Amino acid sequence: MLLSHPVRLISFLLAVAASAAFAAPAAPAPAVRSLLVEVRAVPAKDQLAAGRFDYSDYNRVALLSLVRDTALQLATPAEFAALRQDGYQARIVSESPDVLTLYRRACYGPTLRLPPVYHSYDQIVARADELVRLHPERITRVTLGETTQFHRPIYAYRVSSDARRTQPKPGVLFDGCHHADEVMGAEIVFTLLQKLVLDYGRDPEVTAWVDRCEIYLVPVVNVDGHDIVTSGRDPRWRKNARDVNGDGVTGVFPEGVDVNRGYDFNWAMGGTGEPASDRYRGEHPFSEAENRAMRRLLELKPLVLSVSYHSQGEVIYYPWRWGTQAAPDDALIREIAGEIAGQIPTMAGTGTYATAPGGPGSQSYPWLYGRKGVLDFIIETGKGAHLFPPEEVPGIIAANLGGVRALLARTAGPGLAVEVTDAATGRPLAAQVWLPRIENETVDRRSTEPEFGRLWRLLRPGRYDLIISCPGYETAVRPGVEVKAGAWTPLAIKLAGNPSR
Ligand SMILES: [Zn+2]
Repeated sequence: MLLSHPVRLISFLLAVAASAAFAAPAAPAPAVRSLLVEVRAVPAKDQLAAGRFDYSDYNRVALLSLVRDTALQLATPAEFAALRQDGYQARIVSESPDVLTLYRRACYGPTLRLPPVYHSYDQIVARADELVRLHPERITRVTLGETTQFHRPIYAYRVSSDARRTQPKPGVLFDGCHHADEVMGAEIVFTLLQKLVLDYGRDPEVTAWVDRCEIYLVPVVNVDGHDIVTSGRDPRWRKNARDVNGDGVTGVFPEGVDVNRGYDFNWAMGGTGEPASDRYRGEHPFSEAENRAMRRLLELKPLVLSVSYHSQGEVIYYPWRWGTQAAPDDALIREIAGEIAGQIPTMAGTGTYATAPGGPGSQSYPWLYGRKGVLDFIIETGKGAHLFPPEEVPGIIAANLGGVRALLARTAGPGLAVEVTDAATGRPLAAQVWLPRIENETVDRRSTEPEFGRLWRLLRPGRYDLIISCPGYETAVRPGVEVKAGAWTPLAIKLAGNPSR
């Protein structure tokens, strides 16, 4: 029987619970929400958290979107009648006993297909690969791994002044679609990828970025999930496509693992162990191939800054608020988050994106910052939907390119450009570079990478104490190193060998 399937049973119970929560006390059990209803001119007061049309990421049981002042929601005939009676401009868009059919109509529009302003992964890869063929010196494809369920390749693209090899330059990452239905991320990263390659040598700002740093672009992290959404199958899909219960059937909502809860920094503090949850973190840290692919990227290239694009909310989450503690680099991180947010206009056009500290558990940004020393920001693009109506897409992309400019401006410093070498041979060393007055025990020690012995450490102008250590060498202490404003301050450290250690 249908309900003997554990995931289906749980989703059935969740649906019953959600219906019950919506019903007025003492009312008879509500009928199935078989109507897709559009409500135009929703008053501002009703759009607030306490209002009748509160849209949030985890509250999409009835309200499917609220873009500007137009809501799309599921309703019973009685709920629809009540909306009309209360004076709302409500009309029935579609009717079906099947909730997925209504979701597809709401998110894809009348054609029930993803609007062509969005791209499939195959389309993104075909275009990016074409650029690799046309401009091999500017862009290279790097295979990071394969997806958990369908073993599709997960690609990063490296854009640089000589993309054929890694160079001693700061690394930056832009990635999209940890969450399958948050497809704006793929579109923003795909647009940026093309801009960086095609505007190099024409636009002085783009040329400066590409000369100055190595830029990695992962348009889609969760390739299998993105395909479920972009193929028109299920616009609700958030997680990857893992066949969690092993029944051989994939793509049955809400199966899968939340790829943005699978990293190993405070893994157990993020998401939940409940497979039917939107935020199921999987069986263990890095259980999902998508997370291992991102870890592979960090093994290939240490990064200084990164952005992970999500939807929605017009807010930038930064690391972190951990109980009462802020991140060791809190002042610097908030400064950069504010610079990025201040350059991204909201859809309403009345302001710019907000900033807020995120929690310390299992997501990409605490892992990148806590383990890898990368200042990572989650940017929640757009407001009121996950799949936005096609006419909103170009504006959201253009707005976010403003944030990209602010972030890439920081790849010019200020901070320390550390280079550690063997004093006798000049060989680059993978050495720990510790700033003991800043970096407490909540973060892993930062290191130079072995290929070039380099570490770019963003800092606010001022004086810093450094301790540089490497097994087999005398530890170097550099008190009061001055970081000047406006550029990287070079710091060459030559470590003397210590055979007794
Ligand atoms: Zn997300």
